[in-house]
Amino acid sequence: MNERYAEKLSRMIQKETVSADGQTDLGKFYEFHDLLRELFPALFSVCQFRDHNGSILMRWPGKEHPEPAKQGLLLMNHFDVVEAAGEWEHPPFSGEIADGRVWGRGTLDDKGPLFAMLQAAEELVSEGFVPEKDIWFESACTEEIMGEGADTISKWLQEQGYRFEMVLDEGGAILTEPIGGAKGDFAMIGVGEKGCADIKFIAKSQGGHASAPPKNTPLVRLGKFMSYIDRSEIFDVQLSPVICEMLRRLAPHMEGMSAKAMAQPERFAPLIKRIMAKSSPTAGALLKTTIAFTRACGSGGNNVIPDEAWVIGNMRYSHHQGQEKSIEAVTKAAKRYGIETEVLDPGFESPVSDWNGRAFRLVEEAVGKVFPGTACSPYLMTGASDSRFMSRVSSSCIRFAPFHLSDEQMASIHGCNENVDVRSLVPAVQFYQTIIRSF
Ligand SMILES: [Zn+2]
Repeated sequence: MNERYAEKLSRMIQKETVSADGQTDLGKFYEFHDLLRELFPALFSVCQFRDHNGSILMRWPGKEHPEPAKQGLLLMNHFDVVEAAGEWEHPPFSGEIADGRVWGRGTLDDKGPLFAMLQAAEELVSEGFVPEKDIWFESACTEEIMGEGADTISKWLQEQGYRFEMVLDEGGAILTEPIGGAKGDFAMIGVGEKGCADIKFIAKSQGGHASAPPKNTPLVRLGKFMSYIDRSEIFDVQLSPVICEMLRRLAPHMEGMSAKAMAQPERFAPLIKRIMAKSSPTAGALLKTTIAFTRACGSGGNNVIPDEAWVIGNMRYSHHQGQEKSIEAVTKAAKRYGIETEVLDPGFESPVSDWNGRAFRLVEEAVGKVFPGTACSPYLMTGASDSRFMSRVSSSCIRFAPFHLSDEQMASIHGCNENVDVRSLVPAVQFYQTIIRSF
């Protein structure tokens, strides 16, 4: 079974599906559709298929088959991948199977989960299984470029009046010791993600020749502003309810003082905030809105003071401060340095899903069945996933893929030597089958 699964995934890796800004030639994505039809013929024979500019939406009608189906299950992920630069041990689009692994760009992000999801359904269809309610599959070709695939599909679903009791996308995974001192394996199940906005900060002046510079030229002001943001706390630092729940669930697996504090996070909030802020940028980012400066532009000449210079800030806003208030805070800070702000893209605010609801419980139960001994915890993603758009059609968007990842595998996502264990494919397929059967 393992080998057969690995072969199929390998074929999916061999179809290069790198997405790029402004892509108009969708040929390679349609070739990938054809490959899916070939690999999962039974599933395609029962599904209604829609193409949204290269992104896929499929409906597997359930027994109830209501029109429009109000409470189905949406399984989603993406099939575009990021570029594969750097030195790879196995060529990134070879899909080589070696040393018990399938190698290549997309094996984890996100074709491995896509394979498992479709294979699970393919086998169920072949057995004659018909789901109670509609099961939908969505897979976009624009996720990695923050493109519009899932955005337009979610709008279409909304227009048609579809609602989903549960959406399951990529995001969390099974990790060993997800934070220092928490012993054991944990399924970190994403229940929400921070919003993501792009903001341009513009400093203007009269310009002039570099031989007689006045004080506070545009680049100097931008520099002072960025330095201010870097060293001060302009955003609200809070332990949100989902982070408190995560700490409470990890606490029983820890020892000593930190276990005691984490078991009662609200009571020890100041201490925990200090520990998290110091422990890593990722832990710190769970507590507040962040902003990273990613691009900059000055004048066109080495001896010309710019009359206008700018930097771009990529902001990830917390749920407690939100989009508007976070933008307000940074706009106020920029003003102090005579800098204008322009919101290039305000991003999309999506709520946190209930970790006491049925959708989360179904994932917990499937983890318990397929990965015995693995504890479950909700968590918040600092990165973005396509599922944020699905909050238009569901209040339960869960972000989790059933793969146990090592640190080295985590680093390989968007990096070099991305790979998945061949042995992890069977439990991943079982996981999705459990979800579909129990939905
Ligand atoms: Zn991904």
